[in-house]
Amino acid sequence: MKKVIFTLIASFTLVVSASISVYASPLAYPIERLSGQDRVGTALSISEKGWTSADTVILCEYADFPDSIASTPFAASLNAPILLTQGTALDSRVRDEIKRLQPSKVILLGGTGVLKPTIEEDLGKFDFPITVERIGGQNRYETSIHLAQRVPNDTVILANGDDFPDALSAASFAGIKQIPIILTSKKTPESVLNYLKETQPSQLIVIGGENAIPSEGLTNHGFSIETRLGGQNRYETNAAVISFVKDSYETDDLFLASGITFPDAVAGTVLAAKYKAPLLLSEKEDIPAPVYTYMREHMKVEPPRQSPETPATQPKQGKITPSGGLNLRESPSSSGAKIVTIPQGTTVPLLEEQEGWYKTTYDSQTGWVAADYLTLINSSDSDNQPVKPAEPKKLEGMITADNGLNLRNNPSSTGDKLVTIPKNATIQILAEQSGWYQTTYESKTGWISAEYVSLISPPAKKNGIITAANGLNLRTSPSSTGEKISTVPVDTLFEINEEQNGWYKISFESHTGWVSAEYVDIVENIKDDTPEDSTAKNPDTKPNPPSKDTLPEITIDLSVNGTVYILGGSGVISSTAQSIIEGKASSKYKENLREFPALPSEIKSEEPPQEEEPNNPEDPTPPANTDYDPSQEVLVDPFAGIPEYALAGKVIMIDPGHGGPDPGASGPSKTHEKNNTLPIALALKDILTQAGAEVLMTREDDRSPSTAPVYTELEDLKARVALANSCNADLFISIHNDSFTNSEVSGTSVYYSSANPKNGESLHLASNVRTSLISTINTKDRGVKQLGFYVLSNTKIPAILVETAFISNPYEEARLQNSTFRQNVAAGIFQGIYGYFTTPIPKD
Ligand SMILES: [Zn+2]
Repeated sequence: MKKVIFTLIASFTLVVSASISVYASPLAYPIERLSGQDRVGTALSISEKGWTSADTVILCEYADFPDSIASTPFAASLNAPILLTQGTALDSRVRDEIKRLQPSKVILLGGTGVLKPTIEEDLGKFDFPITVERIGGQNRYETSIHLAQRVPNDTVILANGDDFPDALSAASFAGIKQIPIILTSKKTPESVLNYLKETQPSQLIVIGGENAIPSEGLTNHGFSIETRLGGQNRYETNAAVISFVKDSYETDDLFLASGITFPDAVAGTVLAAKYKAPLLLSEKEDIPAPVYTYMREHMKVEPPRQSPETPATQPKQGKITPSGGLNLRESPSSSGAKIVTIPQGTTVPLLEEQEGWYKTTYDSQTGWVAADYLTLINSSDSDNQPVKPAEPKKLEGMITADNGLNLRNNPSSTGDKLVTIPKNATIQILAEQSGWYQTTYESKTGWISAEYVSLISPPAKKNGIITAANGLNLRTSPSSTGEKISTVPVDTLFEINEEQNGWYKISFESHTGWVSAEYVDIVENIKDDTPEDSTAKNPDTKPNPPSKDTLPEITIDLSVNGTVYILGGSGVISSTAQSIIEGKASSKYKENLREFPALPSEIKSEEPPQEEEPNNPEDPTPPANTDYDPSQEVLVDPFAGIPEYALAGKVIMIDPGHGGPDPGASGPSKTHEKNNTLPIALALKDILTQAGAEVLMTREDDRSPSTAPVYTELEDLKARVALANSCNADLFISIHNDSFTNSEVSGTSVYYSSANPKNGESLHLASNVRTSLISTINTKDRGVKQLGFYVLSNTKIPAILVETAFISNPYEEARLQNSTFRQNVAAGIFQGIYGYFTTPIPKD
């Protein structure tokens, strides 16, 4: 990872105000090229980068690219790499790659005219069975329809198939969101019109300008275009698409493909989708201005964020180091009864830490091991996640051997002795090798036995700075319901003592409390050996602006986040273009040489206060929306026409979506789904209880129901399902807000899953809730939909998921904030539940 040095000039007291000057080249990305000798080789190196194994592989003829251009969403849905081969026989390199990936299925993309039957024969020659399937149409348009039928979606992307760049621009986004790409032409082909008539998608996203896809060809047939993303040329269109859907991307990485020549890119689109990264297009020798601007605005310089799955302070695994093994004990003490001895080299999960002891399991027994005799391992995510190199961590240890420990010239007790390191000396661990640590002592570098080294966790010194313009509330507990102690002003710099579910524990003006992490930026590696600035001691007065003469300079070592993966060799994107991205060469385009605004970094320069920032950022009230009139919300009587105790004896589980570390979707006014689903759920609980039902909740405050040692989305969903399946409830109601990249989209959907064993009941419940809810809140009716949401497919009782309204739509976001609206949503759902119990399930 490339380092960029910044200078921070700051004044420090208890409260610190910081301003920075940034000097850096316009672009400074680290680069990784994914390329081979030819397009076949490039596809192979992309496959090697992204897949250790694959259940399905997609095979295309290397010159027949039009057939493959729309395949990204389909390939992404199967997590299948795309390989290229000549059409008459399987390329030997491709054969080797298939052997490595061990797929059970290979899908040939294209008819027997391009991928000859001999390919099928070749695929039968492996020593493991491979099923072969062929997908292909009469032409590229038809092929795209065949592919679309495999990833049905309410939304469809239309791109001109006569050239490739527009489809390519949309490919990664389409892959991430599983939206099919239909190839069309200036004159819409019959097959495309028929497909649209049959499927009636509710949203059409058109890529490219009127020149590429004229509106007339669609509107004449009664189809309306919900979104058109286009520009004057392929690069403007590329930037327009990427910018429009930028919320879909979940990484700082970027993929770059040639905008001139196509075959090197197709395999890369699936990898980009897998990484959840955008795919940008470039010229061969230079970066076109719209793309350059995107890259520059995307570039962040900041200490890399810790992903919630792998907090640095809580490694998930450890390796037993003593040669005689390590005792697993009943309690975290050497006097604890011994359960079993875990042999050297065993990797064990670390479940909990307590005063130098780790809780772990071995041989299905749970107990404690001494932390001193473990090497910490940073486990990476499972195989199907793109694996990213872990940040190098400085590990320190302390010598525990009474008579000191010998430093030897190789990792073995027969190695020559260089020097003896005394007991209690602190050393830096540079490397580890079979029970030996490499370290430096008295300027000699050598190896010491790990057995006599006690590891010291690196001090997790993390500082934060308040970004909320009107300050941030300090609360007694890590929740927006915690009592307010004080308000911490904007730009206050502080040390983070603890982190919990999106809240930081900090000290401010002799108070200790919690602030919402959302309005805090992380600042790392700030040395606090700087003198105090007495003028800023009074926290009520804003410190004087720092002056360069009197204040010390602090160097902050920050990294550019994200790597640019270049698809193809220097024949398609030259080394000059690469140097421009790395910041080693200048672009020749005037637009690229302009002054760009300062890089977005974790340290904010002083900004004028923003009026629209809410005062209580963790439970914000949205800015006034001119279209929204809260007086339109009239409270309805949920019990109108319903007898008393109508639901006596019924048990209903309500599942407020998201919560804790997972905010769910966010709206344009920075409101969060998790804060809307809970009040609706609580209102529903109230009504159901009044109607005599017993109500169970998956959560009743801002947290995840998961008790797993490390939060993941899957653990969260599993916990909800486990609660539903263990409580003998009659119904499971999950409450959510919808969200889409186009902020104009609005309305209410109710989902059920055909995979739920009670799918008939679920559908009946969904239909009842849809009807009563829409008539109560008057949103656009998006209907009942079938989708395999985890909480719907895995619950064993009738289950529905209500997408109340679109938080991404400013008007509906405002409604979702309104308490009358929330009450009415609850009333509508309640009446639907009542309808479910009192009307017969239709037979089909
Ligand atoms: Zn949701």
